[in-house]
Amino acid sequence: MPVSTPNTSQGTIEVDALVVGAGAAGMTAALVASLEGLDVLLCEKSDRVGGTTATSAGTIWVPGTRQSRDAGFTDNVADAKRYLEAVIGAAPDKRRDAYLETGPQVVDYLDRRSEVKFAPYTRHPDYLANRPGATIGGRPLAPLPFDGRLLGADFELVRPPIGEFMALGGMMIGRDDIEPLARPFASLTALRAATSLLWRHASDRLRYRRGTRLLMGNALVARLFYSLRRNGVPVWCNASLQELTVAGGRVCGAVLLVDGHPRRVTARRGVVLATGGFGGSVARLNDYVRPPLAHAVAFAGAAGDGIRMARMVGAFLEDDHASPAFWTPVSETAWLDGGCGAFPHLSLDRAKPGLVAVNAAGRRFVDEAVSYHEFVIGMHRSHQSVPTIPAWLVCDREFIEKYGLGRVPPGRRPLRRFITNGYLVEAASLEALAGKIGVDPGGLRETVRQHNRFAETGEDQEFGKGSTEFDRHNGDPHHAPNPCLGRIATPPYCAMAVYPSTLGTSVGLRADPDGRVLTEMGEPIAGLFVCGNDMASIMRGHYPGPGITLGPALVFAYRAAMAMRGDRLGR
Ligand SMILES: Cc1cc2nc3c(=O)[nH]c(=O)nc-3n(C[C@H](O)[C@H](O)[C@H](O)COP(=O)(O)OP(=O)(O)OC[C@H]3O[C@@H](n4cnc5c(N)ncnc54)[C@H](O)[C@@H]3O)c2cc1C
Repeated sequence: MPVSTPNTSQGTIEVDALVVGAGAAGMTAALVASLEGLDVLLCEKSDRVGGTTATSAGTIWVPGTRQSRDAGFTDNVADAKRYLEAVIGAAPDKRRDAYLETGPQVVDYLDRRSEVKFAPYTRHPDYLANRPGATIGGRPLAPLPFDGRLLGADFELVRPPIGEFMALGGMMIGRDDIEPLARPFASLTALRAATSLLWRHASDRLRYRRGTRLLMGNALVARLFYSLRRNGVPVWCNASLQELTVAGGRVCGAVLLVDGHPRRVTARRGVVLATGGFGGSVARLNDYVRPPLAHAVAFAGAAGDGIRMARMVGAFLEDDHASPAFWTPVSETAWLDGGCGAFPHLSLDRAKPGLVAVNAAGRRFVDEAVSYHEFVIGMHRSHQSVPTIPAWLVCDREFIEKYGLGRVPPGRRPLRRFITNGYLVEAASLEALAGKIGVDPGGLRETVRQHNRFAETGEDQEFGKGSTEFDRHNGDPHHAPNPCLGRIATPPYCAMAVYPSTLGTSVGLRADPDGRVLTEMGEPIAGLFVCGNDMASIMRGHYPGPGITLGPALVFAYRAAMAMRGDRLGR
């Protein structure tokens, strides 16, 4: 029986651990519990595994790993603790300490015991790189690419990345692939790289619905799924948690809806909630957000099910975070089939030289190169006094040819289709552009004039664009004097609207360091565990660096599995 096929016979199923939700958190909890000898069932509401994780960059932020040391980084946990205190606050936090202490152990454990393997980026600065304890690399790790063909028929069960992050009908494109694909004739190396990518993709498409060279979050999910399969863990798709069952004050199982039929599961050691928070539910998010959101790039299946059901058995929702969610600006894309989507502007365009972000007054409101989370915080702040939703990314056409903008790739090509469908606005002068996008023309003209002066001197006296390691990391290293500041001076001029959207939620269920769900009084609810975005983030609505949701997702999944095994790691 393929591992993902539900057993549809009647009667109660009995396992040691029931894990709910097949994203990074749930898959890791199920994998570790199984590796530790527990009898596990992993159930997933949708028809495929992966959740938001499958569409993510897959980065985990775990300071002090062996993998980083082996790559020559000298980072340590004490510095990381100092950094987190500088960003989040110095109040004692047992979960944060547990995270920092166990993180390296978890990455090593997965590396030794499964196919879930990571390597550090050569360079990837912390997002608030001027705070004490920040580093320019070593803490974020990327999942190693994975060959989807190894999954056989189950490759179809891995949720694909969002269409906006693929090209040519399903080819995943990593950061290093962009340059050779955009300018294949720039060098022999570029030509070889582009040809090899295209050849592999063409041969994939003869047999599969999309490319099998999996990267980033898709590689992480595929690696987890492959490891679960190899360990014989049953993974039920179309199996949704409906209700937790409680007996004698203990969560002892659940009722699932499997292919439309109710099934009772008894979980001797516990139930792990990993349903992904509610980052995919615009309606739930709008309980917290003003003005209301129109977009969520997180997977729609992450709709708050786990949190809702835990609340029904007495769990406490921690919602006093600096921000309820983790943000990214997105542009609204139109698909050829008439559908629409959202392109997250994470790191490829905003920091490059020759772009400003403006509000309706035509004024800048933030250092455009800050992290996607800080950028949206800036939008919300500015929107309190001047309409900033949408905000407009303004540049000239030369910029787009060099760096691309949102869904528009770099390279010399006609922009007509992007202009016709309204994704990109173009005009011969700044005044005409301002008229088309409903922005104050005098404001925009003055903003660009001042910005061009900053570009000459290399110093952004207004918002400090290019003044931190993080800004410069995403700028253009070949551009001087400031890799993030360049003149906007060659017509035609272009603009693209961006809106706030979510990568995931920060608020969630309060838990102890072993992922035990707590009541308002701080008592653990026996038999109920949580990890991933169902758990309140230890970052408390701050975004210190790349991978700060998936890192904790893996670590607390591991700790919850170990606690279920009876090996309480708690401090
Ligand atoms: C474009 C993008 C890039 C990102 N990049 C990064 C990054 O590089 N690093 C990082 O740390 N974070 C990143 N994030 C955020 C990150 O992807 C999420 O925070 C993370 O994937 C959440 O993991 P999870 O396991 O908690 O939930 P998910 O991966 O969303 O999985 C939850 C699963 O639970 C299932 N489920 C829901 N309800 C039920 C139910 N009732 N019964 C059964 N199953 C249910 C869902 O269908 C889903 O499959 C990114 C997000 C996006 C959108």
